[in-house]
Amino acid sequence: MNNTRDMTCEGIVLRVIKYKNHHAMFRFITPDNGVIQCSVTGLNNSKKNFSGVISNLNYLNLELTKPANSEIYNVKNAHLISALADVNNYACFKYQSAGGELFTKIENYLEEDYADLFRLLLNYLGYLPKIKTNQIAIFWRFLIHYYYILGIPINLQACSECNKKLTESIYYSLNNHALICSNCAPKHQVKSITPNSQTLLIQLPTIGRIIDDLSINEQEKKEINELLLAHLSHSLHKDITLKSLGI
Ligand SMILES: [Zn+2]
Repeated sequence: MNNTRDMTCEGIVLRVIKYKNHHAMFRFITPDNGVIQCSVTGLNNSKKNFSGVISNLNYLNLELTKPANSEIYNVKNAHLISALADVNNYACFKYQSAGGELFTKIENYLEEDYADLFRLLLNYLGYLPKIKTNQIAIFWRFLIHYYYILGIPINLQACSECNKKLTESIYYSLNNHALICSNCAPKHQVKSITPNSQTLLIQLPTIGRIIDDLSINEQEKKEINELLLAHLSHSLHKDITLKSLGI
């Protein structure tokens, strides 16, 4: 009786945890199987040549086996397609890492979303090194796309209460966990948003065009990070933190 299943798949390494120098467990996002858990032994085996390959944000082709009674795939062979992490650029690497970390926060994605999620992450990781400044705004835009795929969109164009177009004086509603206009604000528990953050939020869907001209201070970074993650925490009913960003 054959108790194992063999397969080959492409994907991106999300998070590697090493044990005793020669064994590692890691999460791997694939377009066909979603996020899977993999185990690899023989990291120091010079014939297998795994150690530089099984690394965060590497785009790989893996040969895997899966025992019938386990959810964990064992790695037989690994081939590097490309190293997506831009380790020479700290700002870029930080927001790339945050993107990878974000994908580990949900245990099970819907099968219909696997391919879109994989494509989103691959495009994001490949695009970020081309950005010279304000990488954080591209991270925010990535979050918006991620929410959209998950079916928990945050509308940046219209008030979540009256549907009026958002232009100025916008608030974050703690009732809706979404943006609202100043007319609707008195009926809600609200968090105020500083003026430049309001402008940034409204511009997010098309922010790539003006990325070099933006000026974003530390307070605004913190404010928008917290606001966008609050939307996710509320939607998933659990506190989402991102160590890569210290939040
Ligand atoms: Zn309104």
